[in-house]
Amino acid sequence: MKATYYHERGEVRLGEVPEPQLIHDGDAIVRVTLAGICGADLDFTQNGPEMGVQPGMRLGHEFVGVVEAIGKDVRNVKVGDRVVASAMFVDGECHFCSRDIPSACEHGGLFGSPLFAEHGGSDIQGGQSEFVRVPYANGSLFTLPESLRSAETDAKVLPLADNFATGYHGALNSKVKPGETVVVFGDGAVGQSAVMAAGLFDPAQIILVGRHDGRLEFGRQVGATHTVNSKTDDPVEFVKNLTDGYGALSVIDTAGNQASLKQGLEVAQAGAAISVLGFGHLYAPVDAPYSDALFRNLTIHTGIVNVAAYMKTLLPLVESGRIDPSVLFTQTLPLEEVVSGYELMRSRAEGTVKVAVRPS
Ligand SMILES: [Zn+2]
Repeated sequence: MKATYYHERGEVRLGEVPEPQLIHDGDAIVRVTLAGICGADLDFTQNGPEMGVQPGMRLGHEFVGVVEAIGKDVRNVKVGDRVVASAMFVDGECHFCSRDIPSACEHGGLFGSPLFAEHGGSDIQGGQSEFVRVPYANGSLFTLPESLRSAETDAKVLPLADNFATGYHGALNSKVKPGETVVVFGDGAVGQSAVMAAGLFDPAQIILVGRHDGRLEFGRQVGATHTVNSKTDDPVEFVKNLTDGYGALSVIDTAGNQASLKQGLEVAQAGAAISVLGFGHLYAPVDAPYSDALFRNLTIHTGIVNVAAYMKTLLPLVESGRIDPSVLFTQTLPLEEVVSGYELMRSRAEGTVKVAVRPS
């Protein structure tokens, strides 16, 4: 079968690999019908050696598909079910899963990545492929409701596997409140998701800060009330002007770099909550003024998304039509063109927010 894999720094390939087999009794095999390319995949590609990515490692942690086979301990899904996977495979029953923090699952890991690989066994696979082995299928797969069980609706649920759920994680952890102001840093798929998710909590203003005019226009279409291009305008001044000089009560930093964290602290009013997402701080020490947080009662919240815990909230919102995360996919390509998909996202090509690939 065909699968996307890491070759060397900066280079992914599509190639023939053996079809996956059930290894453990809790495993399932899923035939992938649609997979996403995530900003984190670009990280694994560009920083492979630093992140422990081995040549040949299969990529992709966002996928929707149909269950082809299950081990004898799998109860929550059956063969033939159309499912969305959590980007992290999780057992669904450990100390942390039972407390709705599956990102800390004692047996969890991220598909298509070396993160927590010790939990997945010898064969962690990625979703940008025709088939994928899913460890801990009981905790990791979610059967789709009847109205979302078709090739046409896959794109609506696929972002719940990671990117949209991560934006929602940011909205929750920045404690977005009705009538207040939210600032979102980063105009990629997670930033756009954070704009959409923040809207669920009825803030008066959602200010999106980014560096690409096309993506900022996209942000206005999905709910941003204001946008700032930080290449030409000062986000701190912009937010202060819009909030009588006080700043925002909620800040969602999806860019995750030193500049966005610094500006995030500056646009926050006393008592604000700042949710820091993104991988940027993995590569450099965080340089944030502790006194700023202490004396202004700021909450800085970090952590990766708890997909499996949010699915019960987010799937019904897609089913009811309240949210349609499929808008994030500006391009859908055949799996055969996955390498072009990576390049579109890496170069931030005009008109590209997020790319999906569809196995034929
Ligand atoms: Zn667990």
